[in-house]
Amino acid sequence: MASASSSSSHRSPRSMAFSGQSPVPYREPPMAYSPEKVCHCKVKAPRWISWSIANPGRRYYNCSQSLGYDCGYFKWHDDPLDKFVSTLLGDLRDVVNRLKTEVRKLKTEKS
Ligand SMILES: [Zn+2]
Repeated sequence: MASASSSSSHRSPRSMAFSGQSPVPYREPPMAYSPEKVCHCKVKAPRWISWSIANPGRRYYNCSQSLGYDCGYFKWHDDPLDKFVSTLLGDLRDVVNRLKTEVRKLKTEKS
């Protein structure tokens, strides 16, 4: 069923999750969750929402870089989302980003 892509094993977890800005404001700050997950720096890891192509809407934890570097900690909070929901969220993400770009363009043209 799921066709594995060829070179995905070389990508870091971070690049699989991160894809620019969140299209919607967070309903809760990244640190406002419990029980806390601690990264290799022994610091509470923030929980983010992935907006990547593969995993839109899936929450994950990573290093807060509080010590000035990324210890490489990465953990998914959610199981992989249902394919239909995941595709729908990806489509919505793309529409929101397109509209935001358009609004920004119109605003600069107007001023
Ligand atoms: Zn860390």
